[in-house]
Amino acid sequence: MTATPAAPPPALRPYLTARHETLWQEADAFAAEEVAPRAARMEATPRRVERKVAELMAARGWFAVTVPTEFGGSGTGHVAKTVLIHRIARVSAAAAAILQATLIPVGGLFLFASYEQKKHWLPQVADGSLLLSIAVTEPAAGGHIGGIETTATYDGKNWVITGSKIHIGNSHLAGAHLVIARTAAAGVTSSQALTAFLVESDRKGLTVADHRPGLGLHGFSAGRLDLDRVRVPEDNIVGEVGQGLHVAQGSSILYGRPNLTAVSLGIHEAAVTTTTTYLTTRLRYGGPLADLPVLRDRIGEMEARLRAARILAYQAVHLLDEGLPCDDADLINAKYLGHQWAAQSVRDAMELHGAQALDADYPLQRLWRDIQHTYPPAGTGEVQRIRLADAALGEAHIQWSQRLAAETAWARPDPTAA
Ligand SMILES: Cc1cc2nc3c(=O)[nH]c(=O)nc-3n(C[C@H](O)[C@H](O)[C@H](O)COP(=O)(O)OP(=O)(O)OC[C@H]3O[C@@H](n4cnc5c(N)ncnc54)[C@H](O)[C@@H]3O)c2cc1C
Repeated sequence: MTATPAAPPPALRPYLTARHETLWQEADAFAAEEVAPRAARMEATPRRVERKVAELMAARGWFAVTVPTEFGGSGTGHVAKTVLIHRIARVSAAAAAILQATLIPVGGLFLFASYEQKKHWLPQVADGSLLLSIAVTEPAAGGHIGGIETTATYDGKNWVITGSKIHIGNSHLAGAHLVIARTAAAGVTSSQALTAFLVESDRKGLTVADHRPGLGLHGFSAGRLDLDRVRVPEDNIVGEVGQGLHVAQGSSILYGRPNLTAVSLGIHEAAVTTTTTYLTTRLRYGGPLADLPVLRDRIGEMEARLRAARILAYQAVHLLDEGLPCDDADLINAKYLGHQWAAQSVRDAMELHGAQALDADYPLQRLWRDIQHTYPPAGTGEVQRIRLADAALGEAHIQWSQRLAAETAWARPDPTAA
């Protein structure tokens, strides 16, 4: 796998400003100089949560990419976010996962927090002193938001939260968690029954279970939070009481799906590069394996998927940046096909490497393990296909990208920016 910096391909030019291209170069340099040397150690010590890479990304101000300048951020927007996650994921999907996991709740705060809350929380994210997580998934309900069992009740002074959350990205790095809890009695519709709370990680009653490594993404933590009568003040409610479903869905569709799309894209690119390098250097019958027509055909398939995945990943976030009402289904589709295509290409890459693919020290098996991790979060394939079928059949859903188009527009304030 190569960490060699590369220029943006021409097909992405319509979506990239000069600022994006600079960020692209900076991300490539960072990935080569800081991430690549740590990648092998992250793999060799899966029980360790990688903090150093998080600190280095924070020091570069990259958690501030979607924080407005007014709150200390760089305000560079959705395409810039995709550039960072994509280019880092090419070298380490785990490092990119650390970045993207905090950028989902940052989106939730940006869209739903009050001005005072933004002034309090966002500068800390922007200066790198505070990482966040978003905590929705539960042991019984899984990804079904309507089944959330974590409760929050008001005791006259504080909200008291009890329940458990699992698979929470950056569970071990976050200084505060955006927790979705049930605040209404049984029978109240999910669109009014849930509320989002910011819960600082040092609140009494909150425990983060010991880090347990998963199949891949070694170094990234996606662990369990247990909340036992955790008290938080009214000020920690993000949005209105009863708006938790909106906070979770708005964050997931507008931020989570593009973020996971970018992680899949990075893995996809790494798989193609690893394969072409391998097949052009492994000799057989007086030439490289890459000369064999059957293998060229499969390389062609991989390249076709990669080129299409790139466009999907950048086109929808470009529309968001422009404040144009892109269809939520486009963000959903980019995440869905971005994963499917990458997973298929990684599988092809494994087969085209023969037994070499299985060597524990060879990066390809890491790509195969890592790509399994972009299927469940921010909507599994089944969930995405349900929404895509609804779109095809003309069945209405809240269109977050339209409803929040004004807030999500980043390029519009300065359309002349190079
Ligand atoms: C790397 C990673 C990072 C994550 N980060 C976070 C995070 O930061 N915060 C967070 O809250 N969660 C996070 N998750 C959890 C993720 O959101 C859930 O895994 C996902 O929502 C699915 O839930 P589940 O795994 O419990 O599967 P389940 O919901 O139990 O689903 C099991 C199977 O049933 C299918 N299924 C479920 N419901 C339906 C339906 N209605 N129709 C058809 N099929 C259905 C699913 O597609 C799946 O195939 C993360 C997961 C991973 C792997």
